[in-house]
Amino acid sequence: MIQFSQDPQSLLQSDIRSMSQECEKVGGINLAQGICNLEIPKPVREGAKKAIDSGINHYTRYDGLPMLRNEIAKKMQEYNHITADPEKNIIVTPGTTGAFQATILSLLHPSDEVILFEPFYAYHASVLLASNIKPVFVKLRKPDWSFNPDELEKSVTKKTRAIIVNSPANPSGKVFSKKELEIIAALAIGHNLFVITDEIYEYFVYDGKTHISIGTLPHMQERTITLSGYSKTFSITGWRIGYCVCSEALKKKIGSMADLLYICPPAPLQAGVAQGIKELDDTYYDSLKKMFQAKRDKLCKALSAVGMAPSIPQGAYYILADSSTIDGKTSKEKALNLLYETGIATVPGSSFYNTKEGDNFVRFCFAVEDDILSDVCERLENFGG
Ligand code: PLP
Repeated sequence: MIQFSQDPQSLLQSDIRSMSQECEKVGGINLAQGICNLEIPKPVREGAKKAIDSGINHYTRYDGLPMLRNEIAKKMQEYNHITADPEKNIIVTPGTTGAFQATILSLLHPSDEVILFEPFYAYHASVLLASNIKPVFVKLRKPDWSFNPDELEKSVTKKTRAIIVNSPANPSGKVFSKKELEIIAALAIGHNLFVITDEIYEYFVYDGKTHISIGTLPHMQERTITLSGYSKTFSITGWRIGYCVCSEALKKKIGSMADLLYICPPAPLQAGVAQGIKELDDTYYDSLKKMFQAKRDKLCKALSAVGMAPSIPQGAYYILADSSTIDGKTSKEKALNLLYETGIATVPGSSFYNTKEGDNFVRFCFAVEDDILSDVCERLENFGG
């Protein structure tokens, strides 16, 4: 559980870090951290190597290399249906995280309030708290993680400045429907709020669902800041390449903050990502979806079989599973007991909640190779049996 008064330094990813450390101690399998350790696509690797050899090793403009902004603009048009001018509307950032931080620091002020759906990505809450901005939580309810529009409306106060959307969502795997996005859009327009939308899992959508960017809804482009990145899509979490798409006026503000905070994202790695976007076609993204859906199904089946009922994610690559059959009072104790019993590290559900409700879950990440996943399923089977 997080508290507004809590020291933000102590919040930051602390459960994921401590579970990872504990996992290392016992030589376990780390399904706590959302590291996608699959193979990096060849054009991405080759593009970065070529860039280093050809001298793209220096500061770039604050908003990134033109070749990458051009590729992002094409991708935004084709995949997200958002028209973005590479000069006026796109900032390449150090990861989606960099885009999020620069957005928060440039557009919001201490003691502003921001609406955050719960369960939430802990980093979103922590960055807000570190900036002395108050997250106001609106509950997503199982089984489909829907929200109550009245509760959403009631969460707005005079201090509310923005709402954060994360679709597909970490940790719930929720993919917001068009109708839900329309409700959020109407609220944002009605109360003159920014919508900050983190779409990093935009390519990880299952069961034929479609990813919808809230910035495409009528009258939303001016107030929406669309954030995404290639950490997950290209398995390059350590490269730190993300971006922000926004209006020209907001680009000036967010861009100045990004420049102040980071100067620029790593130059040759920007070139690698540009080459990847350029050369990889739909077959790459389609096979990514298929591969991850199969991983999801495999882990969900194993969890169901041992009575750890999974909430079947519609997107992203995490599963919130029922922790009631695991020994322990809190989800932290349960996650540790599960680790000691099976050697599988998960994240306690309390990391994603501001209430005790998180104690009912542990979160599994399924972005791992198939042989590791088979090992996990076998360990779960032995644990249940
Ligand atoms: N946003 C969400 C919802 C995430 O789950 C993560 C990583 O787990 C990130 C952002 C981090 O993205 P990046 O590596 O692009 O900074």
